Amino acid sequence: MADTIADHIHDINSGNDDVGNLVFKEDGSVAYVPSGESIPVGSTAVVTDLSKPGYAAEGGVPSSFPSLEDMYAAGGAFERSLLRGKSVLVIGIGSVGSSVVDALVREGLGRLAIMDMDRVELHNLSRLYVAGVPDIGRLKVDVVEEYVHRRNPYAEVVKYPFDVREHRDVLADEMRKADLVICATDGNESRYVVNTLAVEMGKTVVYPRAETRAEGLNIFLQRPGGACYNCFIGQGGHIEEEITNEASARANGTIPSYTSPEDAGVMVQIGLPCDIAPMVNMTVRLALVELTRGMEGTGIETTAAELAPFNLFIWVNNRDRKYAKFPPFSEPGNGPRILRWFGCLVPPKKYCCICGEEEPFNG
Ligand SMILES: [Zn+2]
Repeated sequence: MADTIADHIHDINSGNDDVGNLVFKEDGSVAYVPSGESIPVGSTAVVTDLSKPGYAAEGGVPSSFPSLEDMYAAGGAFERSLLRGKSVLVIGIGSVGSSVVDALVREGLGRLAIMDMDRVELHNLSRLYVAGVPDIGRLKVDVVEEYVHRRNPYAEVVKYPFDVREHRDVLADEMRKADLVICATDGNESRYVVNTLAVEMGKTVVYPRAETRAEGLNIFLQRPGGACYNCFIGQGGHIEEEITNEASARANGTIPSYTSPEDAGVMVQIGLPCDIAPMVNMTVRLALVELTRGMEGTGIETTAAELAPFNLFIWVNNRDRKYAKFPPFSEPGNGPRILRWFGCLVPPKKYCCICGEEEPFNG
């Protein structure tokens, strides 16, 4: 039979018992008695609030909270501390953005700014793995902040539950502070806003994007002096967006305002978690390469060299619809294939209206 609270209260009050366990007191607080030590009648040793993250010391019981130095020390919470002094801005913390945040925080990222106006909905749960059923209805920025602090209580998290298009001054301020920007929104318009500021400020931005049902994934990397997002897509260029959330898709115009709820429901088509996973992985790799640029002995140099010639990465999950004639995985050779990353180089456009020269008047 399981121990009852009364059993433990008896232990702690009987005096000089070797308890070596958590002791649950009547008022709901928890006393910890270090293994092998005796305690006098009526005293408590260390009182731990179990609603806060604990720290498993020798013996697997909470003894003290890890210090910041403990977290980054050898044998601490992180394998490496390359990102401890780095700051990343993530715009859009849906399935891709939140998973990228998780991976970077587990790499020891020191500062994070997150921007997203959406709340967790039931249909998000399969791909938003930082969230669970109790989080339905909560702002995604709150859920992600809480998750990050469970991983690293010392990580600085700045959160903005808003649409970046309506707060360009705040966006510009956070972009200035960021070593890297990851734009994982589900609307093209917000990416243009980010692109324009990034060109002005000389910032590096990673733009991961999934198409309808995540049939195809692509990641565009914008670096100072290289092609900008506008060079890649073209001004007002139509691209097929994956629509994951009806409310935000209506707000950003991906679902036109005249669309009926029934038709909008059909437009919300999301891919499977395994279809999104390759994009999370590659986005994190690109982020690590960018954030450690100029550092020595990172262990990331060879990855950086592999990816250096490219600024566009394409992955196709399914040979459906527009990818029906895409070469199969089994086909030999070096070209693009289903279920493999394919790197391309998008050159800057000479007359790009964002990053290029003004087009000469020829009328
Ligand atoms: Zn451009």
